[in-house]
Amino acid sequence: MSLSNGNNKGFLAFYQRNLFVFILIALVAGIGVGYVLPHRATWFTWMGDLFIRGLKMVIVPLILSSIISGVSNLGQNNSLGRLTLKTLGYYVTTSLLAILTGLLLVNLIEPGVGAPLPDSTENLPELSAEGASLKDTLLRMIPTNVFAAFSQGQMLSTIFFAVLFGVFITKVKEARYRDLLSDFFNATFEVMMGITMFVILFTPLGVFGLVVDVVAEQAGDKAKLALMAASLGKYMLTVIAGLGIHAFVTLPLLMLLLAGINPIHHFRAMLTPLITAFSTSSSGATLPLTMEALEHKAGISNRITSFTIPLGATINMDGTALYECVAAMFIAQAYNIHLDFGQQLIVVITALLASIGAAGIPMAGLVMISVILSAVGLPLEGVGMILAVDRILDMMRTAVNVWSDSCGAAIIARSEGETTHTVA
Ligand code: ASP
Repeated sequence: MSLSNGNNKGFLAFYQRNLFVFILIALVAGIGVGYVLPHRATWFTWMGDLFIRGLKMVIVPLILSSIISGVSNLGQNNSLGRLTLKTLGYYVTTSLLAILTGLLLVNLIEPGVGAPLPDSTENLPELSAEGASLKDTLLRMIPTNVFAAFSQGQMLSTIFFAVLFGVFITKVKEARYRDLLSDFFNATFEVMMGITMFVILFTPLGVFGLVVDVVAEQAGDKAKLALMAASLGKYMLTVIAGLGIHAFVTLPLLMLLLAGINPIHHFRAMLTPLITAFSTSSSGATLPLTMEALEHKAGISNRITSFTIPLGATINMDGTALYECVAAMFIAQAYNIHLDFGQQLIVVITALLASIGAAGIPMAGLVMISVILSAVGLPLEGVGMILAVDRILDMMRTAVNVWSDSCGAAIIARSEGETTHTVA
């Protein structure tokens, strides 16, 4: 079908097929408009809000139905335990690789040496409360009220409950109840995917609004731009180089070597979620798009995506992990505090924990840095140094977070014997 036959269906098909072209146009247009009209950003920001609201609307029912159906399907052939091990193994391995890449670069480039220290702490976000909550994060996985967890969008506890629910569907004695529930959640999941695909149609609009907003914010503050270029340039470069190596060398190599998947095809299949992750700075909000692209473009089964992606969007954050490590080391260098091998090891471990604990929302990673700083006794005010450039780094690390989730799903699918090739 093409544009030329002039009916609505024809245009819709053409639009869907070329969606990422429209998204790219929206991205470029957003940068232009945000730069030229920074004071008129509010004319457009509602588009971004609208899109994010649409995504948030589908997240909880999508996660619930996808995990419950996925786990109950898995449970029936006893592959849940094996899949859990593989998935967690992949998450920890790739996050550690990302952190080590960051650690190596930050020691080589030493971006913090000679950087000016912050003279005030007034712009600091609320650190202590969030930072101390790592232990609580684990505890809070178990909701005291499941409906509160759903209504507040608490990912980990929602996932926890959904997994339990799925497992216990398979344990129901009466076969017709088991089938009824399984069918019900499979069917609900189909509907939620349909709604998700509908929301995805608005991605270009959303990306445009979000990008205008970010660019206008930065362009409006010339002083901030100058500061970024001068003292924070090297720091940004270190983070960006690390993210680049991880996304374009490490993860593609893993895909190629472990699973024989062509990373370029996979990348093309994932373009829409990656650009969305970049513009929303939220792996949580991008989740519906990630699942849709994996299933419909990369040809990965619902059995694998429904288990790995909601979990991955919440706990597997390679980009954030790398960023945490570089940021903490940068602050140590700026304060001229030497960290020995043992302390750097603590940085690595706490960066991993911080990335697991960080929520898939904008700037969550920035807040979690306090966990690392307090673990190795660095001044919390150091966070003030990197605030100015966090927004842009957040966009990049979020895209890497989502990219790693998707590579993981592909590798695990292959290891489970799935051979469907990328159809993008
Ligand atoms: N924004 C990131 C995400 O949603 C988390 C972070 O701030 O690092 O993946």
